[in-house]
This record gives sequence, C-alpha cells and structure tokens, in this order.
Amino acid sequence: MVCVYCSKKTSVVNSRSQSRLNGVWRRRKCLGCGAVFSTLESPAHHLAWQVKGPSSKTTPFIEDKLFLSIYESLKHRDSALVEARQLTETVVAKINSVAHDGMIQASAIINITKVCLNRFDKVASTHYQAFHPDAD
Ligand SMILES: [Zn+2]
Repeated sequence: MVCVYCSKKTSVVNSRSQSRLNGVWRRRKCLGCGAVFSTLESPAHHLAWQVKGPSSKTTPFIEDKLFLSIYESLKHRDSALVEARQLTETVVAKINSVAHDGMIQASAIINITKVCLNRFDKVASTHYQAFHPDAD
C-alpha cells in the first residue's frame, strides 16, 4: 500500500484483529515522508455474499444499499451518518452468522436490521418497517 500523503511505499508498524467487525486494523508508516496512518481490512462482501429475494433471484450483497436504508431511517437524528455507519457494521456482523455458503435470504437481512434498529431507536425502526414490510 502506498502513502495517502505522498504515494511512496509504506510498512506495517502495528496490527490488531477486530473480531466484532471481522476485520484487521493496521498502522502504517510511510517510507518516504514518515507519515503514519491507519487502514482497515474487511471481507469483500459484495464478492462473497449473494442475496436471495422472494422470487429466488440472487444479487450481490451491496453494503452501501444497507447503509442507505439504515441512514434513511435515522435521518431525524443529529448524528445519523455516524450512527448509520456503526449500525451497518453491526448488521453486517450479524449477517455473517446466517450467510451459509455465502447465500443470504433478503428477509433475513431485513429482520436483522429491524431488530438492530428497534433496539437503537423505535422511530427509526418504524420508518424502516414501512419501507420493508416483506419480512416478519
Ligand atoms: Zn508519505
């Protein structure tokens, strides 16, 4: 990986596993300018997971789509952007436990998201359910 400030090569100076997020945090130091910055490694879910809808048609899992649906439900909150990012990470971590062979039912994603939103903000949960009535 190259430096985000000068595009020279970098080396890893520290690394930690993030088990909750199924990721790896790394601290990198630039061999050119000496700058230090962090990177986060996580699975490429859009390549690994397929979502099966009601018609049995499958599509790649798009995390941004999940994020947008959560963000739309949290828009009434001042820190919706940050909270939607954190909740999306939580939902993705929970999806990981139901992604057998990389295939996930769309209804499972909706149900997991509803449960997470309901615990966090009842208004957001109600908003989300209005746009995702399919699952129970
Ligand atoms: Zn640099």
